[in-house]
Amino acid sequence: MGGRMSTDEQVTYEENDASDFGEHGFVKPVFRNRRYKNPFDTFEERTLSDVYKFRQSEDNSNVPWKNKQELDSTLPVVTPDFEKLSNPPKDAVQMMWVGHASVLVQLDGLTILTDPIWGNRCGPLGIFGPKRYRQPPCKIEDIPNVDAVVISHNHYDHLDHESVVRLNRKFGDKLRWYVAVGQADWMRQNGCQNVVELTWWQEHTLTKDGKSYMFAATPSQHWCMRTLRDKNKALWCSWVVKGPDHSFYFAGDTGYCCAFKQIGNKYGPFSLSAIPIGAYEPRWFMRPQHINPEEAVEVHQELRSEKSVGIHWGTFVLTTEHYMEPKQKLGDILKQKGLDAGCFFTVKHGEVRTVPDEHVKS
Ligand code: ZN
Ligand code: ZN
Repeated sequence: MGGRMSTDEQVTYEENDASDFGEHGFVKPVFRNRRYKNPFDTFEERTLSDVYKFRQSEDNSNVPWKNKQELDSTLPVVTPDFEKLSNPPKDAVQMMWVGHASVLVQLDGLTILTDPIWGNRCGPLGIFGPKRYRQPPCKIEDIPNVDAVVISHNHYDHLDHESVVRLNRKFGDKLRWYVAVGQADWMRQNGCQNVVELTWWQEHTLTKDGKSYMFAATPSQHWCMRTLRDKNKALWCSWVVKGPDHSFYFAGDTGYCCAFKQIGNKYGPFSLSAIPIGAYEPRWFMRPQHINPEEAVEVHQELRSEKSVGIHWGTFVLTTEHYMEPKQKLGDILKQKGLDAGCFFTVKHGEVRTVPDEHVKS
């Protein structure tokens, strides 16, 4: 497990089934009839009638769409400190939350962007799907530098066509795109030149200015779909990035499953993890695909994350919980568990935060 892969090597598309948990018990995706499946017993498929019932459920999100003042006080959007982004600290991880699951992370001289979405809606053609209620804190064109983009899966709130086009326009072939198996063709068709496609537990080394950074695709419990016919033809994943001194974990979208202990054991501890805390109600429908704040804290602990930031909230209404509940519940749960509020925090849109690193060089 975990052999290095160059970009030229082909990922194998062998069929396998749920009974195969891979070498050393590392969980592997099921691949059957050209579609991926979750191997976890914590996953449950949702039927069309479930989706219909979910659409009928009471919406408690209560976003004050027309009251900008209220939104500015509950969810302020600040202009990023570009000076800091241009001169990241050498002895810490620096991050900026763009909104939703988009985070700019700087570690050991490398700048990574996760699931970039700048678009106004997350849906086909930019005219369908949920509309954003908090604007991005800056334009893509304002970001001083990006070396690599990691994509967790192809849902519209994580893979935004407009953002891909604009990132390519600004950074071109200098950008390295990391995707899970099945997604590289789409990336290339949409102008991405350096695409690395990995399956769970596969690693790739990026080198920059003589330094090496290890990227690994790791499991998540989720699914994929962009069109009516492509459900689960591409895989979903989370990402590990390890630099010489610091490390970062990006959970993407996920339900609670047994993968986090494995990821924590193999790659932890992490200097910083970005973990979803929003889009979880109603639980009967959302549980298999999205963790809630309580599960997010468990994930944080199982990953052996030193610090975590809550993402996937405060930007689009995807589910029925109150729009500020993820942040409040996260705080409550940390208190209940006797954990320090600073170990799993939220930030303002656009806020540049430095995450000090207490652990000894690994
Ligand atoms: Zn998703
Ligand atoms: Zn999502």
